Amino acid sequence: MTAGPDPRVTVVGAGIIGVCVAYELQRRGARVTLIERDEPGRGASYGNSGAISEGSVMPLATPSVIAKAPGMLLDPRSPLHVPLGYLFRALPWLARFAAAARASEIERISRALHALHQQAVEHHLALAADIGAAELVVRRGHLHLYPDAAALAADQASWDLRQRFGIAFERLDRAGVEALEPAIAPRYQVGMFLRDHAMVVNPLRYVHKIAEAFEERGGCLVRDEVRAIRPRPAGGGWQISTAAAQRDADHVVLAAGVWSTTLLAPLGLFYPLESQRGYHTMFLGVPAPVSRTVVLTDHKIFATPMEEGLRAGGMVDIAGLKRPPDMRRAAWIAGLARESIRGLDGAVERVWMGHRPCFPDTLPRVGAAPKLPGLWLAFGHGHLGLTDSANTARQIAAELLAQR
Ligand SMILES: Cc1cc2nc3c(=O)[nH]c(=O)nc-3n(C[C@H](O)[C@H](O)[C@H](O)COP(=O)(O)OP(=O)(O)OC[C@H]3O[C@@H](n4cnc5c(N)ncnc54)[C@H](O)[C@@H]3O)c2cc1C
Repeated sequence: MTAGPDPRVTVVGAGIIGVCVAYELQRRGARVTLIERDEPGRGASYGNSGAISEGSVMPLATPSVIAKAPGMLLDPRSPLHVPLGYLFRALPWLARFAAAARASEIERISRALHALHQQAVEHHLALAADIGAAELVVRRGHLHLYPDAAALAADQASWDLRQRFGIAFERLDRAGVEALEPAIAPRYQVGMFLRDHAMVVNPLRYVHKIAEAFEERGGCLVRDEVRAIRPRPAGGGWQISTAAAQRDADHVVLAAGVWSTTLLAPLGLFYPLESQRGYHTMFLGVPAPVSRTVVLTDHKIFATPMEEGLRAGGMVDIAGLKRPPDMRRAAWIAGLARESIRGLDGAVERVWMGHRPCFPDTLPRVGAAPKLPGLWLAFGHGHLGLTDSANTARQIAAELLAQR
C-alpha cells in the first residue's frame, strides 16, 4: 500500500482545509496533487469571519440552544432558521443534533474540540510566516460583547468550560470595552476579552498564499472536478476519476467541505453532514471601526476588520445545497452591525452566503477512513474550519506519513 519514502497523495478540494493539508504534506516530503474544481478558496473558506477561536470549546448543541430551537427554527430572522420546505429533510440531522446536547456528549465533544484547537493561533502564525504572509494573521484578541450582566450570566456555562480548559479571558465593564473598542455602541455594557486570540484579515488571500507556497515547493494544483474515487483493482492505492482524466495515487485526502459525502457514498461510507448556510456583509469604502474580532453575542454575529473593510458574519440556515440564498439574512446582519458599531455610515455593502460543513456533534472527521487503507478524511469543520485548518493538516500529515 505504501510507496516508499515519497508517497503520492491526491488532496480533493482547495478550501482552507485542503490547501493546508496539501501544503503540509508537500513540505514534509510527499508528492502531492491538489484538485479543485473552482478557484481555490471560493467555498466556505472565502467568506468566513476570520476568527481563530482556540477558546470555542462549547459544542453547537447545548440544552439552552435545544430549548430555544422550536421558537427559532421557523423564524426567518432568528440566528438559526430552517425553511418550512426543508424541515422534513432536516429532521434526521436535527434529531442527532438534539442528541448531542446530552451532558455526556457535551463533555466528550468539548474535550475533542479542545484537543483539536491546541495551539491553533501559534500554528497559524507559524504557517503565515512560513508562506511569506505574516501580515495575514493578526493576534489582537477577541472581544465578546454582552448587553448586561444578565446576558453574560445566561452564557456562563461557555465561560466556565473555557476556564476549565485553561483558556485565558478577562471580564470588562463598559469603560473597559470602550478603552479597547471606542466604536462599540452603549447597548453593550459587558465584555469578555480573550487576549491571546487572533484573526485572519483576508481569508481568501490566505488560501491563495498557501496554495502558491504549495506550488513553489513542487506541489501540483489541478483545476478539475473529481467525479469518483475508488480503490485500484490491483496493487493497492486509489484511482481518482475527474472530469478530464483518470489519475492514480497511493493516498487520497478528501477535503471537499460540505460536498465530501457525495464522493464517499459509492464507497459505502455514509456521514450525516449538513450545510449550515452562513452569510456575511462587507462594509467597504470606510475604515473598519474596530481593530479586532468583536462578537455581538446576542445576535451571534462576528465582526472582524479585514484588509478590505469590516466583515460582519453569522446566521445559520439549514436549507441544503440547492435553494437560493436568502440575502435578507445578510441585510439583517448589516442592520445589526450598524446599530452595534459606530462608524459604518456611508459604507457600501457587499453580501455573500456560503456552506459550513456541519456534523450534528460539531466535530469534524479527521484521519484515516474506516476500513479503506489510503483514504483520509478531512472535512466537517463546521463553524471552526479556519481555526482548525493548520492543526488538521498537521494531524493528517503525521498520521499519513507514519505509514511510509
Ligand atoms: C459566515 C461564516 C463565517 C465563518 N466564520 C468562521 C470563523 O470566524 N472562524 C473559523 O474558524 N471558521 C469560520 N467559518 C467556518 C469555515 O469557513 C469553514 O469551516 C471552512 O471554510 C471549511 O473549509 P473547507 O476547506 O472544509 O471547505 P470549503 O472552503 O467549502 O472548500 C471545499 C472545496 O472543495 C471543492 N470541491 C468540492 N467538491 C469537489 C470535487 N468533487 N472536485 C474538486 N473540488 C471539489 C470546492 O469547490 C471547495 O473549494 C465560517 C463559515 C461561514 C459560512
